[in-house]
Amino acid sequence: MRVGLGYDSHRLLPGRPLKLGGVEIPSPLGTVGHSDADVVLHALVDAMLGAAGLGDIGEWFPDTDPRWHGADSAILVRETLQRLAETGFRLRQADVIILAETPRLGPHKERIRQRLADLLGLPPQQVNVKAKTNEGLGAIGRGEGIACQALVALDEAEPKSSPRT
Ligand code: MG
Repeated sequence: MRVGLGYDSHRLLPGRPLKLGGVEIPSPLGTVGHSDADVVLHALVDAMLGAAGLGDIGEWFPDTDPRWHGADSAILVRETLQRLAETGFRLRQADVIILAETPRLGPHKERIRQRLADLLGLPPQQVNVKAKTNEGLGAIGRGEGIACQALVALDEAEPKSSPRT
């Protein structure tokens, strides 16, 4: 088994859409970025790349590339899963922590989990979504942005047969 860690953050501004884990969340503030600025999907992409030893999201999906301007980050997830498959890995489990002072995400966690399970091709019980505030601390605590931490576990898609004793 391999594990990988991912992190992402984006600023919040009024009048922008807010997408978290591929789910649109009703909010007067939304994230700003080159793509759709979905911090959850970006953190997950980095976690998956990390677990597979494939570098980071900036190498594969540079924000200088017009292809990713306004892009649906679900595409980045699909391409990353494809790369995992090509390098002999299969996603096994994902766990995320979303750090947001506003909006409160409790009512949306289950929807995000279901959508992530769909996007990642995992049973929902292999996906977990945690949401918390930053207790008013720092930029996240002032509601200036949203951050996400992600952890994933990968299996080798075709495990080598265990050595005979
Ligand atoms: Mg990002």
